[in-house]
Parts: sequence; C-alpha cells; structure tokens
Amino acid sequence: MAIQAPEGTVDLLPDGARHWDHFRRTAFDIFSRYGYSPIETPVFEQTELFVRGIGEATDVVSKEMFTAISGGNLGKLLNGEKLKGKSRLSLRPEGTAGVVRAVVQHDLVPQGGAPAKLMYAGPMFRAERPQKGRLRQFHQVGIECLGAEAPTVDAEAIIMLMRFYERIGIPRANMRLLLNSMGCEKCRPAYREQVRDFIHAHAGELCEECNHRAEVNPLRAFDCKNPDCAAVMASAPKITDHLCPECREHYAAVKELLDAAGVTYVEDPKLVRGLDYYTRTVFEVQVVDGMGSQNAIGGGGRYDKLAQEVGGRNTPGLGFALGYERCVLALEAAGVEMSAPRGVDVFIACATDDVRPKAFELAQIVRDAGSSAELDHQSRSLKGQFKLADKLGARRVAILGPDELAEGKVKVRDMSTHEERLVDSDMMERFFGQFGGKKFGE
Ligand code: AMP
Repeated sequence: MAIQAPEGTVDLLPDGARHWDHFRRTAFDIFSRYGYSPIETPVFEQTELFVRGIGEATDVVSKEMFTAISGGNLGKLLNGEKLKGKSRLSLRPEGTAGVVRAVVQHDLVPQGGAPAKLMYAGPMFRAERPQKGRLRQFHQVGIECLGAEAPTVDAEAIIMLMRFYERIGIPRANMRLLLNSMGCEKCRPAYREQVRDFIHAHAGELCEECNHRAEVNPLRAFDCKNPDCAAVMASAPKITDHLCPECREHYAAVKELLDAAGVTYVEDPKLVRGLDYYTRTVFEVQVVDGMGSQNAIGGGGRYDKLAQEVGGRNTPGLGFALGYERCVLALEAAGVEMSAPRGVDVFIACATDDVRPKAFELAQIVRDAGSSAELDHQSRSLKGQFKLADKLGARRVAILGPDELAEGKVKVRDMSTHEERLVDSDMMERFFGQFGGKKFGE
C-alpha cells in the first residue's frame, strides 16, 4: 500500500495551501496596521523552554509534546545514556514560548524601550488523539506584545482578533468572546488555595485526575472535560471575587475599552486556559454552533512573568493564537465559501503548432511584466487548451494564430465577458503589465 500522511496531519493541497497563504496574509495585513512585525522562530526548541514556560503540569507539556531526537542522540538514548539539556528538543506545541525566548535572547525589549509587537504564522505540534478539529500538526497565526502592561494592549489585541475573524467571513453572531482575569502573583496564590480546599471538600464528586490536579495545579480542574466535574466546579470560588485592587482595576479598564469599542464579550470566571503562564486578562473565542467540543477558534492572554521564567528580565507580555483549521471549520459551519485569489492572468493558446515558440516567448514577456501566464506543455488541441485555461481559472486567453501573428497581432479574449480584442504582439508587455501583480518588495 502507498505510504499515507501520518495520523493527525493533513496535506494542504494547492487550493488549501493557497487558502492558508491568503489567511496568513490577511492576518498579517490587519495586525501590521496595529504595529506588529513578523518573526520566525524554529519549529523545535529545547524541551526545557516549554517545561519552564508553559508548565510541567499542563497537558500540553506532560502529555502532548513531540520529542525531536537526532539520529546520533537516538543511539545514545537506546544505549541508556541521558541526553544533555541542549540535546533534549521538542517540536513547538505553541508559538509564545519560542517568541518570548527570542525576545529575551536578542534583547528586543531593551530597558525603557518600546514594546516589541510581533506576529507569526506556522505549524504547531501536539500529540493529541486526532479527531475533527484536533490535529497533531495544525497551523496557528498569533501575536505577542512584550514590554507594556497597560490594559490598552489587551483591548487592542482583542479588538484586532475579532476584526480578523470578521474580515475572513466568520459572522459575529456565530462567535462568543469569553473574558476573564486570572489575577497576578499577589492575588492568585491565595485563590489557588481556596480552589484546592474546594476540590478536597468535593473529592468524592470529582474524577481522579481532578483530585490529582488539586495537588499540582488546582486551577486545571476548571478545564476538566468530564461533565460531572464541570458541574461541581461551577460552584467553586471565582477568581474575579478574589482579585487584588490592581488586577481588578486592570480588568475593569480592559472591559471599559472593549465596551467603548462596541466589542461584546461574556465574562467567564471559569476560563483558565490550558497553559500555566497566564496572568490577568485571558480570553477565548468560541464558535456558537456546529463545531461540537472543538469549538475554540483562538485565545490568549497576558503573561507578565513568562519572560522571567525563561531567564529574561521582568517584561510584561500578552499574546493570542488562532487555529487555522478550526477557522476553516467555522467558515464551513457558517456556510461561508472559502476562497483565495487564484487563477492565471493570461493563458497563451496556440491555434497551430508552428506558433508554439512564439507563445513560449510571449509567456515570458507577460511574466516579466508582472502578470502570471501559463501555456500548454502537452501538445493539446486548441479546444483542449481552452479547457485547460478554464480549469486554471485563466482570466484572459491570448490566442496566437499564424494569420494574426503575421500582422503582428494577438487576439485576447476576456473569459468573463467573452469580449475579444486584437493587441499588438510587441505591446504585450505594456498590455499585460497593467494587470500584473506587484514586483517583489513593492
Ligand atoms: P491554545 O494554544 O491551546 O490556546 O490554542 C490556540 C488555538 O489553536 C485554539 O483556539 C485552536 O483554534 C487551535 N488549536 C489548538 N490545538 C489544536 C489542535 N490540536 N488541532 C487544531 N487546532 C488546534
């Protein structure tokens, strides 16, 4: 049997890859209006970064990380040797830890400097049980803003995220924005103890894992998928009743800014999100209908202690990530047709074989002028070439006939209006240059 793609992965075939590219560009287009610049970090990092950054007790780190082992090190492992920290590598399960590591390593937020506003897009890897909307390799687009703790950063990011979803076509009515504050190092420890006491008091009604969570990280119990646990945890103490005055003020300011911008949200004091690094604002966007339990299309929050966790100086930060594949499902659920610009600007068809060299030459001229051009490479008949042009979504077909060419002309047909006109063959560059895409870097 032919070899298949690994379980939990999907191939982005040309239409899908084009859509992903369009999705990413749309996101970057919007985010750059808010001052974000692109960053690319490696898809694997030292395992230690995720352990320290995301937290050892999180599902993502304790169960879902893919370890990356080089050939030489695999031999060592099989011999029972231990690998040094530098050789212990994992595929990134999310983007924040790597970006924060890069910010610290390259000192992108010097003391007193402007915030670093960074955006990224790429594959993430989690060894989860694959199901609809849950993959082992999936794509995220995300942002991180480091160096400012003002609530305007939080509100701006949330507004930008919602603008993005609307721009790609997910109807606002289909989305629910959940908001919470997780407090800070001052107010959270006492609250965590209260949740631990609550879990102890309800030990018999909660699953084994939640009881275990009480010991390592009690807040994780809010994330338990078991409906009985969720029912019990609904009456657990709420963080929003235990925020310190600074956190309360910060949270109120974020809400005020969102209210003023007309961005509606639902406060959810149980929203703790799966990663340990969050402080203060956390948010998640869910699709209301049609996506079952994998309905989170994005989320994020503030992580004011993360830079320190990974060895940097105290640098407040906030970020979010959104899942491409989940957004595709959300668009499908809303009945919105996914489309990305496609098709060639001009297909150059040959009426007879003797004009093929001229077609080859003209295709080059058109491409150099900045438009896309394609031609037949399989000796098709003129009818076959038109079929191919259709399949490629050609917007125009230039038909080279010996008679027209003898007069220095080429017939160009607009495929949507069927209008035809004769263009001077030595004017092809100017004619097609006007439809052209921009040159690299423009
Ligand atoms: P998280 O880092 O878990 O908050 O994930 C951010 C977003 O990435 C989620 O809201 C999902 O849209 C997406 N996502 C997370 N895990 C997966 C997965 N295993 N498969 C597909 N998308 C995912």
